[in-house]
Amino acid sequence: MEPLVITVAPTGSSTTREHTPYVPLTPEEIADEIFASRQAGAAVAHVHVRDAQGRACMDVAGFQRVVQLLRRRCDIILNLTSSGSVNDDPARPMSGLEEDERLGPLIALRPEMASFDAGSTNLLDRVFINHPAFLERLAQAMLEAHVKPEIEVFEPGFINNAIVLAEKGLLQSPVYFQFILGVSGALPATPKNLIHLVESIPRGSAWSVAGVGKAQLPMAAMAVAMGGHVRVGMEDNVYLRKGVLARSNAEFVKQMVELAEVLGRPVATVAEARRILGLPPLAEPPPRLPMPADLA
Ligand code: ZN
Repeated sequence: MEPLVITVAPTGSSTTREHTPYVPLTPEEIADEIFASRQAGAAVAHVHVRDAQGRACMDVAGFQRVVQLLRRRCDIILNLTSSGSVNDDPARPMSGLEEDERLGPLIALRPEMASFDAGSTNLLDRVFINHPAFLERLAQAMLEAHVKPEIEVFEPGFINNAIVLAEKGLLQSPVYFQFILGVSGALPATPKNLIHLVESIPRGSAWSVAGVGKAQLPMAAMAVAMGGHVRVGMEDNVYLRKGVLARSNAEFVKQMVELAEVLGRPVATVAEARRILGLPPLAEPPPRLPMPADLA
């Protein structure tokens, strides 16, 4: 089996300080949590940022700050969200301005990866709209900016949407899938559903699973055993175990490293993760991994 790629998703768009006092919200807090997660064994960081009030936003300067802080410190693969503040009025199509806002960080910063939500779904108390025309525009923008899409799958039909885009030449093989299971409004996190998704993707595709809430650990355990990869962190879950809040995102990563060890699966280095995900080596690797105190 391939080594296990651990993605940390430290913040997301909906976790608040009321859910947990430990969720990182400022660019500095987010970068610190990602750096600690890298030290613990994560190879990829899925990044959202917040505004001064703690609300999800797509502020390019916020993403830029996180990217700069991390590129000075480590080589972790950066995967920026393309959906940090989403249109949630089903009666109103996304405006061109909102589309531009969602594309902004990946065009300006050209991260190695960005999330790509390959369809629309109910999501908690919202409708998460990803119009077919917007998906084509997003795919084209990622191709031009050399950003690898992480195909986020909330429902099985999203897989076919991605296959159709690949057939049109808008997504490049191998396609990388992230199954997000257990969100209220979308596909429940069950073993049967995960197996169905894994059996539905094109041969040769890599996949990862993010179970939401109490599904995070069992879905991750299935992925470790099946040869998939895992996403953990406070975007999806705040409890390390029943009734015990994780005090940092790195605690989730450590839990995955321990799980992989128990199940006999090696954990991917960042270089191995780049190969598994079909990314080129980092052009200018950071010369060293400085300690957090190095950062003013
Ligand atoms: Zn996200």
